[in-house]
Amino acid sequence: MKLSKSISRRESLKWIGVAGLSAAFGAYVRPAWAGSANGRVVVVGGGFGGATAAKYLKRLAPSLDVTLIEPQTRYITCPFTNLYLGGVRAFETLWHDYTELREVYGVRVVHQLAEDVDADRRVVKLADGEVLTWDRLILSPGIDLRWDALEGYDESASERAPHAWKPGAQSRLLRQQLEAMEDGGTFILVAPDNPYRCPPGPYERVSMVAHYCKTHKPRSKILLLDSKDAFSKQDLFTEGWKANYGDMIEWVGRSQDGRVLRVDADRLEVETEFGTVHKADVLNVVPPQKAGIIADRAGVSDASGWAPIKARTFESRQVPGVYVIGDATEAAPMPKSGFLANVQAKMTVQAVMADLAGQPAPEPSWANTCYSLITPEWGITVAGVYEVYDDVLREVPGSGGVSPLDASAVFRRQEADFARGWYAGIAQDVWGTRSSS
Ligand SMILES: Cc1cc2nc3c(=O)[nH]c(=O)nc-3n(C[C@H](O)[C@H](O)[C@H](O)COP(=O)(O)OP(=O)(O)OC[C@H]3O[C@@H](n4cnc5c(N)ncnc54)[C@H](O)[C@@H]3O)c2cc1C
Repeated sequence: MKLSKSISRRESLKWIGVAGLSAAFGAYVRPAWAGSANGRVVVVGGGFGGATAAKYLKRLAPSLDVTLIEPQTRYITCPFTNLYLGGVRAFETLWHDYTELREVYGVRVVHQLAEDVDADRRVVKLADGEVLTWDRLILSPGIDLRWDALEGYDESASERAPHAWKPGAQSRLLRQQLEAMEDGGTFILVAPDNPYRCPPGPYERVSMVAHYCKTHKPRSKILLLDSKDAFSKQDLFTEGWKANYGDMIEWVGRSQDGRVLRVDADRLEVETEFGTVHKADVLNVVPPQKAGIIADRAGVSDASGWAPIKARTFESRQVPGVYVIGDATEAAPMPKSGFLANVQAKMTVQAVMADLAGQPAPEPSWANTCYSLITPEWGITVAGVYEVYDDVLREVPGSGGVSPLDASAVFRRQEADFARGWYAGIAQDVWGTRSSS
């Protein structure tokens, strides 16, 4: 068995174990000074980052006044939407609500959009006109799509050529289009350059589309046009595609003319940098992204479109008292994942409580594992552990790693089981949902 990186898997799991434990440990043990953390905290966004932050603030410091602002009464996860597209998971299993946060933990949940933030006056304005004051604000608004980045691809074009990179109606639309595609049709996925939400996501998506086509439309073709020359877990995906789908999936990197510059959603055509036109039967365009718009309005994002943060606490570098977590942050080398949004939330909750209690922020540590499924029984992972070094985030030297190449079917099946276990565990941790597959 070859190892894809010089670090052994056992070694990387050891690191994950240490950091994962410390993340969970820090979150579950109430610091002695937690009782002196008083005040009002408003959290914007009830996804992986925001819902975790609201829950753990109340769990660790019940006397805090915590309000969560989230427009949707039902949150749908991006993780496992690819399995829904592949026909292996019911859409309803991806739905979660805020009952536990409200009823068990006493979080005030307000189903409204936060429209504006006035950091000088320390207020958030909601779409219905309500104005909330805060002592500390945590923003976890996720991503918005850059509609101006690909010529011809705006919000109305996404009704014909869905992105399905924010879950919900877009995921359903893409699934319906796939079901309606003729056997022998061409599915094209357009993938963006870094950074973007979920680095392995496009590659898992074509895997799940191939899984569906293999059983229902075996003459179909899947073309992945990429703005990058390398991608997450590339050797493992390539190996898995070949073993399970033969030549059904074709990946075209940037230097081989994979970078799409123009989209014609009416004709389901895309044009690349060097002028090649590709025609699809189903066209899935994942455009470049940026932090959710409220980050701009709060003044926490910069010219990159993402929010720069202080490494130790995730307090905004630009606006004191405002903390940003999850996909909206500029937190390289951390990838934008739900796993990390959850861990960042737990670390930042402690920094916020310490700040309110007049204490120094505890030493943070973060870990991440991104699982991807190539088939429902073929899982692969990439893991990383992160620390602060010289006030900058970095991957702990020698930590992390990816699944081995040439692994046995039993090993791949185990990793697929771990992926399902991870989903069930995080859904339980964030929303209190006991999920089934
Ligand atoms: C296809 C796909 C597969 C993925 N698979 C995985 C995976 O297997 N593992 C993994 O770890 N990650 C995965 N991810 C990534 C994961 O979904 C994100 O990293 C994660 O959702 C980020 O959490 P967040 O809290 O930053 O944002 P989100 O979870 O998107 O939450 C943001 C919330 O903020 C709300 N919001 C936005 N603006 C406002 C506002 N102005 N006022 C109030 N509320 C607002 C939104 O309604 C939303 O509910 C996947 C992503 C995709 C697209």
